[in-house]
Amino acid sequence: MPSDGTPVGAASIPLSVPFLGGNERDYVASCIDTGWVSSAGPFVDSFETALARRAGATHAVATTSGTAALHVALLLAGVEPGDEVLVSTLTFIAPANAVRYVGAQPVFVDAEPRYWQMDVDLVRAFLEHDCDVIDGVLRDSRSGRRVQALLPVDILGHPVDMDGLRALATEYGIAVIEDATEALGASYRGRPAGNLADLGCLSFNGNKIVTAGGGGAIITDSGDWADRARYLTTQAKDDPLEYVHEEVGYNYRLTNVQAALGAAQLEQLDHFVAVKRRIAAAYELAFRDIPGVTCASQAPWADSTFWLYTILVDDAVCRVDSRGLMRRLEAAAIQTRPLWQPLHRSPAHAGSRVLGGAVAERLNRQALSLPCSVGLSPEQQDRVIDEIQAALR
Ligand SMILES: *Cc1c(COP(=O)(O)O)cnc(C)c1O
Repeated sequence: MPSDGTPVGAASIPLSVPFLGGNERDYVASCIDTGWVSSAGPFVDSFETALARRAGATHAVATTSGTAALHVALLLAGVEPGDEVLVSTLTFIAPANAVRYVGAQPVFVDAEPRYWQMDVDLVRAFLEHDCDVIDGVLRDSRSGRRVQALLPVDILGHPVDMDGLRALATEYGIAVIEDATEALGASYRGRPAGNLADLGCLSFNGNKIVTAGGGGAIITDSGDWADRARYLTTQAKDDPLEYVHEEVGYNYRLTNVQAALGAAQLEQLDHFVAVKRRIAAAYELAFRDIPGVTCASQAPWADSTFWLYTILVDDAVCRVDSRGLMRRLEAAAIQTRPLWQPLHRSPAHAGSRVLGGAVAERLNRQALSLPCSVGLSPEQQDRVIDEIQAALR
């Protein structure tokens, strides 16, 4: 066995790795040739322009990470210390952490069982029955906190049912921030993900659909918000010559080198999404008739990116549970991963309120994300499929 633990004779198949097959090398080299390597430069501008176009929005402001984008988006939406923000409980932890950065408290919302996205009915019930309007301010009647925003996540690249959430947000006068970090290239009723709400956030870390090495962006149609995002992400500099700052800002601007990588990746987005969908279709065909296995499904109103293709394994029916299947695939040098611990169970957010929660807990127990890199060959995918069929049949 080589020192990394890979069994000899079986090339390992990673869960999801970047595909760097376009202009990445040329664009990064041009940063070095021109000396534009830091947090300004032509690729930052062209990357922002291309992102805004892809998301069908007027503005994109590039940031150092998706988490930084979420932090600034919450500030733009007027979230203040002591407020509450409704966040998906079944998600990577970043959006909940961003809520805490601004001193607010997450109220976690369960997933609905069909598409695994934030459950609109739970949000409606909370706003209708658990909140009061006191002196024109919407308050959680149990905690007394002001409810200021909704922060749904497009889980695994499938858009959330945004029309229902937006109607509620309009009725109750609160903002909606879409965490579209897994959904660049997806669409909802024909509209691109990323610009489905008041503000959208994207991430370009190494395992997202498009990577810049690291990075993120805020998407908005508001020129005022875009200006303010640029201001807050560059240390809130009011006089660049005399270094006068009216407020505490952040060092959150993307570098030109990262933007060069991101711009080259973004040119390939359509191809990446097409490959992800082809991989998803092949898995679906292979697994849909296995009793106890549920494949990721797509709503009739959604075009998912299938960012991480995920199946559910019901151990009351199958011979192994999701973790047993994971270990068996690991022994065959195939990397898979469960979904995140639901955030209402996370020690980092202990004491937070949750609306529902049982669906997310079941999904956490049963889910396994399968290899789905853009570079996954049909032969590799067949090997994954054969191993899983052998384990489950
Ligand atoms: C990846 C991810 C983020 C944050 O991304 P970073 O760029 O790593 O900060 C935020 N939200 C979700 C749902 C993610 O999957």
